[in-house]
Amino acid sequence: MLADNYKKLLENIEVAAARAGRDPQDIQLIAVTKYVGLNEVKEAAKVGIKDFGENRVQEADEKIKQFPGLNWHFIGHLQSNKAKDVLPYYTMIHSLDRLSLAKALQRCGERFNLTANVLVQVNTSGEESKFGLAPDEFPRFLEKIKSYDRLRVRGLMTMAPFYDDPEAVRPFFRELRYLRDQYSSNEFDLEHLSMGMTNDYMIAIEEGATIIRVGSALFG
Ligand SMILES: *Cc1c(COP(=O)(O)O)cnc(C)c1O
Repeated sequence: MLADNYKKLLENIEVAAARAGRDPQDIQLIAVTKYVGLNEVKEAAKVGIKDFGENRVQEADEKIKQFPGLNWHFIGHLQSNKAKDVLPYYTMIHSLDRLSLAKALQRCGERFNLTANVLVQVNTSGEESKFGLAPDEFPRFLEKIKSYDRLRVRGLMTMAPFYDDPEAVRPFFRELRYLRDQYSSNEFDLEHLSMGMTNDYMIAIEEGATIIRVGSALFG
């Protein structure tokens, strides 16, 4: 079942990449395991998936302990006081959305002598239920965290609203890409666009996603 889902997903990634004239190798898949348990993580690792996403510190704890060799991505809202529980164990944090969290990660990085790979979360749709900076706050935010030497800003992340017709979210992905292109510089190599979930990953790939975060399409 998972193997079939995975195969189908890889095919779809290829189709979407071809439509955009992109190399499917440039698109990294994160299997989101927030709704499933240890067995599913094991199954997914067995079919060859190496990157996993979780959105709650505590729920992810056991999975990371059991599978420390996999790459774990933190994709949920992160409280500043939990920075110390995340930074040492995760490959990347996709949800840097405010200065207080940047400060907490910087302090934590100093304390553990670690660097945090982060993506800045931007709320391109403006939906109130979504976390993330407003697009027009992004440049100033980058400017403010420039001196934070324990943060390595690798790109941007967004979560699109759910629409029955995934075409409707295309402008929100396009906006993220525009920000990336506009503000990449010597100081900030904004290589990654983490965008696209089960409902809309093909659109996201067409719009330049380098990382897609997929749960339901893999695990049902
Ligand atoms: C749950 C979640 C996903 C995966 O959602 P699916 O629709 O199940 O693919 C991706 N990104 C974030 C931030 C999530 O919380």
